[in-house]
Amino acid sequence: MSAAVERRVQPRDDLRALEGYHSPQVDVAVRLNTNESPFEPPPAFVARYTEELRQVDWRRYPDRGAQGLRGALGAFLGQPADRLLCANGSNEVLQTLLLTYGGAGRRAVVFEPTYALHSQIARTTATEVVAGERGPDYAIDVDAAAALVRAARPSVLFACSPNNPTGTVEPRETIERLLTIASDAGALLVVDEAYGEFAPWSALELVDEHRPLVVVRTYSKVWSLAAVRLGFAVAPTWVIAELEKVLLPYTLSVPTQVAGVVALDFRDEMDARVATLVEERGRLFAALADLPGLHPVPSGANFVLVRVDGDAHALWERLLDRGVLVRDFSSWPRVEGCLRVTVGTAAENDAFLTALRAVLPEVVR
Ligand code: PMP
Repeated sequence: MSAAVERRVQPRDDLRALEGYHSPQVDVAVRLNTNESPFEPPPAFVARYTEELRQVDWRRYPDRGAQGLRGALGAFLGQPADRLLCANGSNEVLQTLLLTYGGAGRRAVVFEPTYALHSQIARTTATEVVAGERGPDYAIDVDAAAALVRAARPSVLFACSPNNPTGTVEPRETIERLLTIASDAGALLVVDEAYGEFAPWSALELVDEHRPLVVVRTYSKVWSLAAVRLGFAVAPTWVIAELEKVLLPYTLSVPTQVAGVVALDFRDEMDARVATLVEERGRLFAALADLPGLHPVPSGANFVLVRVDGDAHALWERLLDRGVLVRDFSSWPRVEGCLRVTVGTAAENDAFLTALRAVLPEVVR
């Protein structure tokens, strides 16, 4: 293709400034940068899953409405199947939400610092992003949120709880008040609970037909199935019906649907893993709080954000030199000087802490 042709074909004007998603995928011994589960799925899951795949009729398109998966997941959650939408990771669920309720001339409110993909997907769907600020403890200030919503008149409000990258869990009262604010404004409240299983409470219990509430969850973290790409929304039936019109037909492959059903039979294993990771999170937090020049942020997720007195980027590099990859937030607005570490196995957390203790004196002020 000639350079002249490349220059003539341009993306949409409003997409030109977008940078895309950047999180280095580096092959190192200890990967604590993307909040995946450190555990393999249970061997019995893998055996059942591969057995089920042998039965698949590969010639045929999948069940378009993912009815089997939605039925099983609904039974698991105590919700009717028509309150569920399943897609390829919660990112695709979020995209579907914004394609349906966002778009040109509409606005989405986010509370920064938060999951970057909320803004990114809003922009790719031509939805204007209105950023509110979190308080010094990274919690959402509901009065400020109410004022922002009155001024911005958004169609979607995002509340990420536990929040990525801070780990902050919003209290139930905050979510209930945000729901009232959203409801009064004719907006949808989307609570992103990608890390919900690690938190002490869940907004899932608030989903019913009368509230404009969508809770988004994923199989990528506690279910040890990030490779599969499966996420879902729990929402009133009148929201799900709209989302279904927008979701691409046959978007969820048969292997994905089967994985989602089979995984649900391993609830006890999943609960045990969550308990282990919550315990390890406590151990990691205490160890970080004990080290000079480090300030971990209380977390209800499977990661801990830590502020560094000193050059956090240099610390990230030195950890990487020692085979430990964490997430570098040092130059992100509002979390300057911070690194985020995923809770791994006890051995991985020990490896991280050993490397950290070795290099910290070189960077800390
Ligand atoms: N929401 C939040 C807050 C996340 O941190 C992530 C993963 N980084 C996602 C959604 C997307 O997860 P997935 O698409 O794997 O379900």
